[in-house]
Amino acid sequence: MTASHDVFEFADALGPGKIIHVHEPGIGLKGTLVVDNVAAGPSIGGLRMAPDVSTAECFRLARAMTMKNAAAGLSHGGGKSVLYGDPGMPRERKEQLVRAMACALRDVRDYIFGPDMGTDEVCMAWVKEEIGRAVGLPSEIGGIPLDELGATGWGVRAATEVAIEHCDFELAGARFAVQGFGSVGLHAARFLAEKGALLVAASDSRGATASPKGLDVEALAELKRSGKSVADHPDGRRLDRDALVDVECEIWIPAARPDVLHEENMRRLKAKLVVSGANIPMTDGAERYLHEQGVLCVPDFIANAGGVICAAMEYHGSTESAAFAAIEEKVRDNTAQVLANARKGGVLPRQAAVALSRERVERAMSYRRWSIF
Ligand code: NAD
Repeated sequence: MTASHDVFEFADALGPGKIIHVHEPGIGLKGTLVVDNVAAGPSIGGLRMAPDVSTAECFRLARAMTMKNAAAGLSHGGGKSVLYGDPGMPRERKEQLVRAMACALRDVRDYIFGPDMGTDEVCMAWVKEEIGRAVGLPSEIGGIPLDELGATGWGVRAATEVAIEHCDFELAGARFAVQGFGSVGLHAARFLAEKGALLVAASDSRGATASPKGLDVEALAELKRSGKSVADHPDGRRLDRDALVDVECEIWIPAARPDVLHEENMRRLKAKLVVSGANIPMTDGAERYLHEQGVLCVPDFIANAGGVICAAMEYHGSTESAAFAAIEEKVRDNTAQVLANARKGGVLPRQAAVALSRERVERAMSYRRWSIF
């Protein structure tokens, strides 16, 4: 592969405007920032920390943010950054890396850091102190703590409620499984359980637990808070982490890693509705297959927009209650519009969602001297 091919491998009509790699051998810092498209305004996107991230994953996530922010009608474009490392490393080491990453990207003013997998509001406080711009901050310094409050999970429930109108079952009494019992998964479980749905299985990176009678969401949250795995839950049957896909349920919520539903396991899924809390949780092939099997898949950037809506409202000085009301309204409207368009056009919900967002991004681009920056 030639160098020029490598650098422009992801380039298309929407972006990315910039791909920046940062490296500081003195402290072992390695990170990547992709600023995809800022026609609508400075990009907002999470900082992900994981040992196995890549530039390709960073680009796909940045593009997902362009589409998500446009779908949510925010005056922000899409970007994403990834930091190589184990997010469970000692705090002092993590703080050093996160602060260094922020400093390295200090002058890239069209990117605003937010929390993502492996980072949280404390990390965003470090970033804010270093460079003066971050969202998803602790409340003590003006933030709306979106992960603590469950902003994304709140939107996932709103999307689920609307999607169920297209299904042959009710939310009350429906069985659901959550892959990834972190900030998104835990709160999605809590809000869905409040509406009478039954959590029958949950997983995290260390394992899974299942019970057809239903699992107590608060007991699982307590286990996670005490540093244990959901697999340690005494009332559930312990399963292999990746056996979550086999669980009998109506609703399956991916809230962990990309591409967890793929060509090798897509036939095993029992659910009738998949509402994506995670970003890019399924391959294109899996999404098409599930659609053909009559499984309704609400696309990631429509269902999980709660976090970024909250973050953007925080950035513009709004309050928690206004942010939650906006999430409910925007996620509901977008889910309804996308599913109606998909049905009318005989296309996948993702195709309808991409068309909706793309039209909004292109309109924003048409107002600019240059198109994507
Ligand atoms: P998190 O780090 O709080 O939680 C992730 C959870 O997934 C953890 O419990 C972890 O143990 C588990 N996990 C990791 N790998 C797994 C695997 N292979 N199988 C099962 N569980 C696994 O992260 P989060 O903030 O909840 O984000 C989860 C996903 O949602 C990511 O894809 C993220 O990009 C997306 N997302 C997050 C937000 C947000 O507001 N936090 C918003 C939109 C999208």
